[in-house]
Amino acid sequence: MSASTDPAQTPNTDRLATDDMVRVAVDQELCIGGGICEMLEPEVFELDSDIVISSVIGDGLLPRNRAEVVVDRCPGQAIAVVEQEQ
Ligand code: SF4
Repeated sequence: MSASTDPAQTPNTDRLATDDMVRVAVDQELCIGGGICEMLEPEVFELDSDIVISSVIGDGLLPRNRAEVVVDRCPGQAIAVVEQEQ
């Protein structure tokens, strides 16, 4: 009898939470302010209080699923996934 695993029964949420990290970037030419990104991910995005434009702070890494939410919610389409961490 073999001890094979059924991939259909193997949850991949752990992999999403730990391994599938991506790097995000802000195109400041497209940013229209508002700070949705900062509200969603305050440890990755910061809205400059003077110019009201967002930028990435720290390493800019997010789990892919959270990065996709921020990209989708950005009204200026200014956020992009630029690199996948291995
Ligand atoms: S969500 Fe998009 S448009 Fe809004 S501040 Fe962040 S980068 Fe700029």
